[in-house]
Amino acid sequence: MELVIEKKQIKDWLIELKKENIVIDSKKSVLPIKQYFFPPQEDFFIFDKKTKQLDSPDYKKEIIIVCHHLGQLEAMTQLDEIMEKPNSDFFYWQRREKSILIGLIDESVEVAPGGDLILEKINSKQYRVLILTDKGKKIVKNKFFKEIAKPKVKKYSGEENPFKEMLLDSELLADAVEWSKGHKIWDELAKKCLGCGICTYVCPLCHCFLIQDRVSLDDKKCIRCRQWDACTLPEFAKIAGGHNFHKTIKERYYNWFYHKFVRAYKEYGKAQCVACGSCGRSCPAGINIGDVLKEIVKDYKKYEKE
Ligand code: SF4
Ligand code: SF4
Repeated sequence: MELVIEKKQIKDWLIELKKENIVIDSKKSVLPIKQYFFPPQEDFFIFDKKTKQLDSPDYKKEIIIVCHHLGQLEAMTQLDEIMEKPNSDFFYWQRREKSILIGLIDESVEVAPGGDLILEKINSKQYRVLILTDKGKKIVKNKFFKEIAKPKVKKYSGEENPFKEMLLDSELLADAVEWSKGHKIWDELAKKCLGCGICTYVCPLCHCFLIQDRVSLDDKKCIRCRQWDACTLPEFAKIAGGHNFHKTIKERYYNWFYHKFVRAYKEYGKAQCVACGSCGRSCPAGINIGDVLKEIVKDYKKYEKE
């Protein structure tokens, strides 16, 4: 028996599930799902100078995210791991634990990459249910879902993505990127890259941040906040006293790759990339990370043979 929902009933089900706080992450969304748990800027606490009281944000809000990308769901599984180990990120988990992630996927799902529940298109009228967590189990116990003995199942293939295949060998990518530090490609990319940080902001897996204390304009409150940071920004590796570990864009851009493919492999056993292509689509300089990796791996393999 398969649990299915009719396509035309999905909207009604979502409305009944929760009247507010439903976010639809469409294929055109620029910022990744991470923004709902790790916002671009968030206040940790606010200190009122007059009352001497500390206030913190309200994390009671529940959120349902309906996502159309398998890559985003896969990235969330990885981001959960990053935000749990080695230290659990309190602020991330306050929101994450109150969320439900639903994949609404118009292609056949070989391996469910993450989320609480995936609705997989099986024909033009129906979606099959893949339950991944207890949260997912709870929200399908209602009149919208039916057990069907043998639903008509069609194959829907996703877009071909050779970059995705490269990611299967994280060890090779880690070795190649580490070896490439002196490669001419970093000089070429340094001439192109504007150091704007957009690739990091749109990446579902980049998670570096900075912490700032600021004072409200009326001087009544002090606020500690964190905001997204990016390897490519000029001040990323600047420390107290003014020393900058990565002064040049070449160093900073290489560091972005190093973190994603070398450090991530050493710490978590895989690259922090799901080949979603968002960074390439948003880069004002037209840099495509898949092409960069391809060139590095090709030269690394040649070097290995020599
Ligand atoms: S988006 Fe492009 S130009 Fe901007 S920092 Fe990233 S690689 Fe450089
Ligand atoms: S393709 Fe770019 S945006 Fe997507 S996960 Fe990889 S590095 Fe991040």
